[in-house]
Amino acid sequence: MNTQTSQMDSSKQKKSKRGAPKKKCPDCGNKCHARSSACECGHVFYHKQLSVVEDWTMLGAGDTIKSVKGNGSYWLNPETKDKTYMGVYGKLVVKGIVADGVQAYRVVKGMKHHILEFIYMGNPKKSDLLDNYFIRPHKLIWDKKVKIR
Ligand SMILES: [Zn+2]
Repeated sequence: MNTQTSQMDSSKQKKSKRGAPKKKCPDCGNKCHARSSACECGHVFYHKQLSVVEDWTMLGAGDTIKSVKGNGSYWLNPETKDKTYMGVYGKLVVKGIVADGVQAYRVVKGMKHHILEFIYMGNPKKSDLLDNYFIRPHKLIWDKKVKIR
C-alpha cells in the first residue's frame, strides 16, 4: 500500500468537506448552497422537476399554476405542417373551473390588472369554425412556489 497517495487523498477529501459547498448567485452575488435550485433574490439556478396537475377539476380559486408551451390548441399549417400553438401559457391564478376547462388570471409582470383567460382542458377535437385548427387540452403544472400535500 502506498501511504503517500492515501495521505494525499485524505487531505483532498478534508478540503472539499470544509463547510457546505456554495455557489455564487449571478444576480445578487449571494452565496447559496450548491444544491439549492433558486436564490433568495429569486434567481433560478435550475428548475426542479415539474409536477403536473393531474386532475384539473380539483383546481380551486387562488391556486397558482403554469401552462406549459407546446400544448393546447394549435393551428396546423397545411403546407409546412408546422403547428402554431394558440393556447394560454405562463403563470396563472385559478378563478374557478367551468365545463370544459379552467378560468384563470394570467399573471403578467408589471401589470396591475390580470387578464382572465379560459384554459381548455376538455377532449381533443377539430374546430368546426376554423380550418386546420385543432382544439387540444393544455398541460398544467403546479407553480413551484406552491407546496404540494
Ligand atoms: Zn441571488
